[in-house]
Amino acid sequence: PVRTRFAPSPTGYLHIGGARTALFSWAFARRHGGQFILRVEDTDVARSTPEAVQAILDGMNWLGLEHDEGPFYQMQRMERYKEVIQHMLAAGSAYHCYMSTEELDRIREQQRARGEKPRYDGRWRPAPGKTLPQPPAGVQPVVRFCNPTSGVVAWDDLVKGHIEIANAELDDFVIARADGTPTYNFCVVVDDWDMGITHVIRGDDHVNNTPRQINVLRALGAEVPLYAHLSMILGDDGSKLSKRHGAVSVMQYDDDGYLPEAVINYLARLGWSHGDDEIFDRAQFVEWFDLDHITPSAAQFNTEKLNWLNAHYIKKADDAFLAAEVANRLARRAVNPETGVSLEAVMALYKDRVANLNELADMAALFVADIHPAPELIGQHLSPTVKAALASLRLRLLDVVWEKAALSQAIKDTMAEHGLKMPQLAIPLRVLVLGVAQTPAIDAVLEVLGRERVLMRLERYL
Ligand code: GLU
Repeated sequence: PVRTRFAPSPTGYLHIGGARTALFSWAFARRHGGQFILRVEDTDVARSTPEAVQAILDGMNWLGLEHDEGPFYQMQRMERYKEVIQHMLAAGSAYHCYMSTEELDRIREQQRARGEKPRYDGRWRPAPGKTLPQPPAGVQPVVRFCNPTSGVVAWDDLVKGHIEIANAELDDFVIARADGTPTYNFCVVVDDWDMGITHVIRGDDHVNNTPRQINVLRALGAEVPLYAHLSMILGDDGSKLSKRHGAVSVMQYDDDGYLPEAVINYLARLGWSHGDDEIFDRAQFVEWFDLDHITPSAAQFNTEKLNWLNAHYIKKADDAFLAAEVANRLARRAVNPETGVSLEAVMALYKDRVANLNELADMAALFVADIHPAPELIGQHLSPTVKAALASLRLRLLDVVWEKAALSQAIKDTMAEHGLKMPQLAIPLRVLVLGVAQTPAIDAVLEVLGRERVLMRLERYL
């Protein structure tokens, strides 16, 4: 059975690149009826924070990427790592090294001076017939892995194709520090092994770790998983994605009024394709997703496309759902939406005219909160003729049946009476009742606003 994992380091929020990695790992597990495991790689104690763990969980939850097992925390697995290290020491696939940092720096310096790649020289590595130096007193050793000294380590990356590295390029890396704590590359190996991971899907910033990890897995007699290294994501301008490009934290997209469905659809297409298909939901994605159609080249972020998808999902969403989302956003702005105007009706008027939920909330606020039309707008649109026409419209509105057709008739009658054309009356009317010159059909706007509000908003200026 397929088992994938997402293994974030909790040193910051869940960013777009991490979210895409999580999405692909999740989708691959779902596609194959397998398990998706969440593992928090929190061994970098100095940089890991509980807030970052929470931010990652929140981000995953918002995106709806539910895990089947975990979250596992590496800090809670220390005993297990130490046990495996003891086992490797006993089996001879790891050894104690007493070389001091100063000495290590010195030999690296010399290697650099000779034009060689700096690497540990294997001084403390046991070998048949070799006499090891006497361990210096009072020095806590590190533990190093006995990397194979010849041959190559190779794998068929499911995204990047065949990759191989000569073992001579890899030195005996440290798996436990002098204080006994295991190192990053080692914890990952033990976890992937213990958790029975079959497919490691992760960012290609880890490609260089893979040969080391494979060598350790082999030394442990573990089955080596398949690897799929995803290319990085570039910003709109082709440079490395960073804060400069606006929202890089997943939860920032929530703040900015994006629907998780839109973000999921957008991320799905970021470096993966299914013919010309652009719009598809989560279930469809799971059905289609495969590793063969991941592009090995970097994917470029495209905010316009994300906005387009967001507009699409907002248009498709049902009014009650949007109303609830907007009510939350209004509450955060300290606007009380319990005012007799149906937010659902406002959603129906605007959902095909906006790019995000915040714009929807802006529009809803014009209906439910008080409005303050700009004096210039009033000055520009409220000529004496128009004012007279609006005053007679107001009279008609006092007892008209409050529904679209009758409201539309009242407006037409007023226009005829005062010799005005539609925009000559409708624009000033919009300015008075909503504070803006452009709105959906004015009869529909009046219907949703309700008689009491419309009359009150008109009376202030007449
Ligand atoms: N913790 C690593 C990171 O956040 C991921 C390691 C892995 O997937 O193997 O970049």
